[in-house]
Amino acid sequence: MTRKVMVGAVPVGGGERVKIQSMTTEKTSDTEKTAAQILRLEEAGCDIVRGAILDEADARGVRAVKEKIHIPFVADIHFSAKLAVMSIENGADKVRINPGNIGGEADIRRVADAVKARHIPVRVGANTGSIEADFLRRYGRSAEALVESALYNVGILERYGVNDIVISVKASSVPLTVEAYRLLARRTDHPLHVGVTEAGTTEMGLVKSSVGIGALLLDGIGDTIRVSLTDDPVKEVYAARNILRACGLDGDYVELVSCPTCGRCRWDSMALAEKVAAYVKDVRVPAKVAVMGCVVNGPGEVQDADLGIAGGEGSCMLFKKGKPFLRVSAAEAEEKFFEQLRLLLEEKRRGRA
Ligand code: SF4
Repeated sequence: MTRKVMVGAVPVGGGERVKIQSMTTEKTSDTEKTAAQILRLEEAGCDIVRGAILDEADARGVRAVKEKIHIPFVADIHFSAKLAVMSIENGADKVRINPGNIGGEADIRRVADAVKARHIPVRVGANTGSIEADFLRRYGRSAEALVESALYNVGILERYGVNDIVISVKASSVPLTVEAYRLLARRTDHPLHVGVTEAGTTEMGLVKSSVGIGALLLDGIGDTIRVSLTDDPVKEVYAARNILRACGLDGDYVELVSCPTCGRCRWDSMALAEKVAAYVKDVRVPAKVAVMGCVVNGPGEVQDADLGIAGGEGSCMLFKKGKPFLRVSAAEAEEKFFEQLRLLLEEKRRGRA
């Protein structure tokens, strides 16, 4: 098991729930826009957010942003110890730096002292684009190079007494990412931030992130995750939530089982499945519902669902806990299903209150 670090009030590592991260796309110094975007990310389920710090205005902006948001803010800095220290003094809950590129010994010491004084963690990461030259020469663009480069930077921080460290080793190649994290997990007990970097635009980015992050999570590797998409970061958060759910790491949602439909389906089960998916998207209660096109697989798939529906010739059967309880015409299937769905969710919410 990895060690635990605190990012603001959010625990990371040590067997805690895997946390979801994203990154703002606004300039941090535009504190209104940055905070507004973070509030949307929070609403979607983001646990920790990162913002780029490019100049002193950004570093000063951290304070104003933090006053408006409710989740920890990570300041992402490259090449400047001064900006790192300013961000920390303005309330950053964690910094993402690589000590190897932050300056000389005095600079690293300044950052390390600031981090220790405020008891905040540091994320150290190697991407295929930022492998230290020495390791790149020795190992090429490989898993070994990523891991050695990240651990070299971790070693620098540890020498200056910083021990709350989160590590990442990201590549845009899924096999390389997975290989690097597996190697890294054998070499360290620091918590790991997992993601496939520069995964691309939405369609392929979702696939690459799901395969890469999913493979690692199923291996028990990963304490925080980020899905990296060339798109609205809110989509990254929804995607991350879905990956956790698909990996069985978040039971607090409504699971929808629905068939792809085929020539046997004689009613519009696809439209109902889409409407149900949209309706339950943000519902946070553990429940399972099933929308099945016909009776071939329908009754079997609804067996362990709280609520299910399977189509037939001109009519549909509604199921509760796998037992048939109401036959309805295909025309009234949607209305009757939603009636029961609302009752089910209400019941689940009451049970939790
Ligand atoms: S449940 Fe029925 S309609 Fe759906 S895919 Fe299977 S056979 Fe086809």
